[in-house]
Amino acid sequence: MPFVDLGARDRELNEAIVADVAELFESGAFHYGPPVARFESEFAAYCAVAHCVGMSNGLDAIRLALLGAGIEQGDEVVVPAHTFIATFAAIRQAGGVPVPVDASESDYNLDAALVEEALTERTRFVVPVHLYGQMADMRAVMELAGRHGLEVIEDACQAHGAERDGNRSGAVGRAAAFSFYPSKNLGAAGDAGAVVTDDSELAARLRALRHHGEIVKYHSEVEGYTARLDAIQAVVLLHKLPHVDRWNEQRRDAARYYSEALEGVGDLRLPPVPVGSKPVWHLYVVRTQHPESLAEHLAAREIGTGRHYPQPPHLSAAFSWLGHGHGSFPVAEALAEEGLSLPLFAGITDHQLARVAGAVTAFFDRG
Ligand SMILES: *Cc1c(COP(=O)(O)O)cnc(C)c1O
Repeated sequence: MPFVDLGARDRELNEAIVADVAELFESGAFHYGPPVARFESEFAAYCAVAHCVGMSNGLDAIRLALLGAGIEQGDEVVVPAHTFIATFAAIRQAGGVPVPVDASESDYNLDAALVEEALTERTRFVVPVHLYGQMADMRAVMELAGRHGLEVIEDACQAHGAERDGNRSGAVGRAAAFSFYPSKNLGAAGDAGAVVTDDSELAARLRALRHHGEIVKYHSEVEGYTARLDAIQAVVLLHKLPHVDRWNEQRRDAARYYSEALEGVGDLRLPPVPVGSKPVWHLYVVRTQHPESLAEHLAAREIGTGRHYPQPPHLSAAFSWLGHGHGSFPVAEALAEEGLSLPLFAGITDHQLARVAGAVTAFFDRG
């Protein structure tokens, strides 16, 4: 069993997608055109916001959201220490300096209680990440940001459709970035992303930034980028979007199964879900002191697993220049050392779930 089986989710749609892609080839409208505009309007509605601007990928979406919101060279940006490294890279590439803050044991996301001690006169943004499909504590983040005059850009790349305290992922901050990398809860057939926002001026700036800075053709208002959403990807995403909620329900069923079957097994610590949170389970990450040997035991039984992520960004060579050594962010470092992601995808069967749970239990019974 693979760690993620995209076929289980996509097979039913492939024929209709291929027919629409063939039509697109006939029209030759590979950029913009009806599919991009339609996807943008449908995804904005899905996120309960006014505007969606399609982008080339999730990293560009974060980077351009920061640029569109007016980040300046050297601005400090608070970011959770426990995230995928693209969050750090996007901030750096927008001219910002990532300022990591440790994760909370309560949800593995940004610990809002630790943010204040990280603030300086240069702090202008907070980029909370809704990691593994569970929203960060946005009530606390927004309250804090309001008090200190900080802009909030959500990294919602793993949290399509997630909710917490009545808020929807992507609808809380000034803007939010999504990725549609194939394995995300809503995945394209290649790279794609989007920024969503209620701010129409920001949306207009983002449309210019993604396309050479143009508002009127060949008249650049600002120095722009090439960061558009392909029409082919928009066609794929339009077919998949109506199924995301159903797929997320299947993920919830799978997570519920694991959380019941694995309760009290060995030294496992199961993913925490705070009251009021409705995660969409992009990943189901258990903690153990033996992640590598458990992964090997499962691999020998042809069960794929993942590590998300074995190295926190502050300990990577790419961000050693930030100067945060081992021990700087103990929760993030423990999560990196102990985390193992079990197979979880839309369409995973009860039989597959039982096989994983049985194999995990057998590993610990063996002693
Ligand atoms: C996937 C992901 C990104 C980057 O998305 P790409 O489309 O791969 O550029 C950024 N942040 C998080 C948390 C992600 O999971």
